[in-house]
Amino acid sequence: MKKPELLAPAGDLERLKIALLYGADAVYIGGAFNLRANADNFKLEEIKEGVEYAHKLNKKVYVTVNIALHNKEYEKVENYLKKLDKINVDAIIVSDPVIIEMAKQTNLEVHLSTQASTLNKEAIEFWKKENVSRIVLARECTKEDIIDIKNNIDIELEVFIHGAMCASYSGRCVLSNFLTNRDSNRGGCSQICRWDFNLYDDKHLEGEKPFTFCTKDLSMAKHIPELIDMKVDSLKIEGRMRSIYYIATVVKVYRTLIDNYCHNKEKYAYNLKYESILRRVANRDSITQFFDGNFGKDVQYYNGRQEITNQDFLGLVLDYDEKTNLAKLEQRNYFKKGDKVEIFGPDKSFNFIIENIYDEEKNEIEIVRHPKQIVYLKVPKKVSVNDMMKIC
Ligand code: SF4
Repeated sequence: MKKPELLAPAGDLERLKIALLYGADAVYIGGAFNLRANADNFKLEEIKEGVEYAHKLNKKVYVTVNIALHNKEYEKVENYLKKLDKINVDAIIVSDPVIIEMAKQTNLEVHLSTQASTLNKEAIEFWKKENVSRIVLARECTKEDIIDIKNNIDIELEVFIHGAMCASYSGRCVLSNFLTNRDSNRGGCSQICRWDFNLYDDKHLEGEKPFTFCTKDLSMAKHIPELIDMKVDSLKIEGRMRSIYYIATVVKVYRTLIDNYCHNKEKYAYNLKYESILRRVANRDSITQFFDGNFGKDVQYYNGRQEITNQDFLGLVLDYDEKTNLAKLEQRNYFKKGDKVEIFGPDKSFNFIIENIYDEEKNEIEIVRHPKQIVYLKVPKKVSVNDMMKIC
């Protein structure tokens, strides 16, 4: 059975390394010309470092160059592509046809961004002739659309499996421009579709609660076997702005689901515990969106913004001393002696009750309350750098 690629987002080098360490086969990052103005975009030397790191692990790095290009940027983008080619990025993710044309002067592989809103075979035939090697399908594709395309055209398909949605065809929206003077197609989307609005009928306020277009998120955990059977080439997680904790958790869950199904299809059984792990790191409810054709009013919150936050992520392991069983931890949220916690990493997960905590001078302390505070913790099993501690 062909294992699909698991593709994760990375907003900076730290997140790139965490995504690959926790099981992603490839990451996509933003450089100089992409739609995430607020993500900590990579400078060229950082892209180079990320590419070298990934290639050592036999993994890949794709760079998004998916802006809608203005005339004045033509030469800058052309030069930028040459530089990306030189540092051996594995592909660029593009939506503007002129950038696809420019890429023909390089050895860069081209993936068509979801920003191109590709939903049908004819469009894909067109892009294939333009040397595009992979299509990132529009999030609005149904299962039938994907099957039909996969069965009729020999081209790599990338499908979103997890993360936030856009209330328009991905980013093709000017609400943000009109209301906040921030351009969705230049990486400035202020997500005003998630704001609360008062609705008026003529002069009268409609309803008791504010109205919002805020969509629920996408989660395809349950449908991973179907996507593998459909021979989708790459399964993509959304979220270059997300934390290392979110990336580690989501990547690890999907890594496990893909590996378990590919290892033994007959014995594979979906376990609801994965949904609850994903729910703990989510900001909103998740559903399968357009995939199963049940798209309707339940995919959005109409009555007011509903977002969930939690303080589950307690600390990041920076070091471990096998002689003393002391883990060096950088604090991310408040915890104290007596708390029941879980340590998880790419290859481990165990629970324990915190018995001893020490500060940097090795004085015993009861509570860890300061952001990024460095502490030492007695742990019952061996841990590794980049393991994480969370509320149990
Ligand atoms: S404002 Fe909302 S609908 Fe418009 S591009 Fe941003 S996320 Fe999409």
